Amino acid sequence: MNRRGFIQISSVAILPLLLGAFPKARKKKKYSVSVQSNRKFGHIIRETMRAPISSEKRVRYVIIGGGIAGMAAATELKGEDFVLLEADDRLGGSSGSSHWKDTVFSTGAHYDLAYPSSYGKEVIALLKQMDVVYFNKENQLYEFVDQQYLIKEKEAEQCFVEGGAIDEILSEVDGLDEFRKVLKPFEGKMLLPTRLIDVEFHYLNELTFETFLRSKLKLTKELKARIDYQMIDDWGATSDQVSALAGIHYYVCRPYDKMDVQLFSPPQGNSYFIEKMVGEVDSSKIQVNALVRSIQETKTGVEIEVISENRTIQKIQADKVLYAGQKHALKYMLATKEPLFENNYAPWVVVNFVCEKGIEFSAWQNDVLTKELTFLGFVNSSKQHSRSEKYDVFTAYYCMSEDDRNRLVVIEENPEAFIDRTIELIEDSTNTLISGFLVHANIKLMGHAMPIPKPGYLNFDSPLQYSENITFAGVDTGRLPLFYEACDSGIQAARKLKMNKENS
Ligand SMILES: Cc1cc2nc3c(=O)[nH]c(=O)nc-3n(C[C@H](O)[C@H](O)[C@H](O)COP(=O)(O)OP(=O)(O)OC[C@H]3O[C@@H](n4cnc5c(N)ncnc54)[C@H](O)[C@@H]3O)c2cc1C
Repeated sequence: MNRRGFIQISSVAILPLLLGAFPKARKKKKYSVSVQSNRKFGHIIRETMRAPISSEKRVRYVIIGGGIAGMAAATELKGEDFVLLEADDRLGGSSGSSHWKDTVFSTGAHYDLAYPSSYGKEVIALLKQMDVVYFNKENQLYEFVDQQYLIKEKEAEQCFVEGGAIDEILSEVDGLDEFRKVLKPFEGKMLLPTRLIDVEFHYLNELTFETFLRSKLKLTKELKARIDYQMIDDWGATSDQVSALAGIHYYVCRPYDKMDVQLFSPPQGNSYFIEKMVGEVDSSKIQVNALVRSIQETKTGVEIEVISENRTIQKIQADKVLYAGQKHALKYMLATKEPLFENNYAPWVVVNFVCEKGIEFSAWQNDVLTKELTFLGFVNSSKQHSRSEKYDVFTAYYCMSEDDRNRLVVIEENPEAFIDRTIELIEDSTNTLISGFLVHANIKLMGHAMPIPKPGYLNFDSPLQYSENITFAGVDTGRLPLFYEACDSGIQAARKLKMNKENS
């Protein structure tokens, strides 16, 4: 979501919605539905428990997981003998995308912002190599080469709150000046990747953002509610759950106080970066529909069992493994007694509404602040560089609490009810009808979508590893859930494995 405006917010008047102008209900049309859920992987593993090994091969490196972290690792190992295994039918993970007819849309991460020159050099080097960024000497930022995907400043965001529309989530809220003053000393210090943050700020990883704020200012109920919205939106939980470091990082990780920072959002979202990474490696080394069911260390390396699309089992003997899948599943795959990671994960649901053109929203990002705080709003593709002449896509986001993970099963079993409810939420909060325009809805359900950066969560040290032969990457290795962190974690883990190889 857009954080750029908060520094400049003054008193922006609430624009009252024109209640009388609410358009007449259009007749609902029949629409098609597709559902993507990673719950299917559990079923596949159970179905193939007794399936025999049908083929074997040997390779030096195996990368498990084709999200940003796994793909970044692949670019690092590109000259080597490796295979990347992705369980899903497409790459991307939480930075994935999908399409319907001539539309393409993000099913997860959808934006990034220009990068300060103080950010980690390894990710910048990769982005430069892929022709994604160039260095702008004037403002000292790495900016985006594909300028058609930049979101115009004045169309970036609007926020619907309590029956009105405001420019930004923090507009019109008391205590903003004090809040800004509290954050000021951290400007320029909150780097990415977070492993580069100076040790003098590490104490912020040990307390909650709310505790930190209450020690510095009077946190009114309204200011807390607005901050909570933003914390859920990027970190999957409220200010009383996430660390002060995560909270502060959100507001000052870029020089928003000094300049306009480019906001980059291609229609396919952050799978743009995945496509660029695919262009860097030999695609015959990438296998999709390849679900790893077990990882076992042997005397000579690591043995991996993979379930292929036709439900046959392939055994791969590898020297080294880089695991970039979600870590909660490791207890089954690596069969360890003690959990290796104690992460908490926020479940997310993303709904793409493909609609015939004709619906008007003035902003790309439409934040919706409800009391419940699970429905966060939607992104409007008509403010992006669209490839479709006939359709616009409205992508709605829900972040659930961990206790609500079971709700995803209910949604999967009756997606139409959830789609209708989401349409109602959009129509009621924005006074704009979309139902009559809808032709297709896609739902992506992610039970373990995002590691929640609670106090103590961040890891400032070198990549975590199980042994000399098995290394971990991904945002859920003590990183903030962001593109830059995922990318850096993949690069660092691959380098560590190569180093281990040289030493062994
Ligand atoms: C809804 C949502 C919106 C977000 N928006 C943004 C945003 O706008 N900007 C931003 O910077 N960040 C955003 N993020 C954060 C995003 O998670 C990271 O940017 C990044 O995509 C994480 O990448 P990853 O590789 O660490 O993990 P994942 O994306 O989780 O990738 C893990 C991959 O491993 C695969 N896998 C797992 N187990 C196995 C197995 N056994 N065998 C084979 N493959 C396996 C999975 O299928 C998956 O593809 C968002 C996250 C969510 C959930």
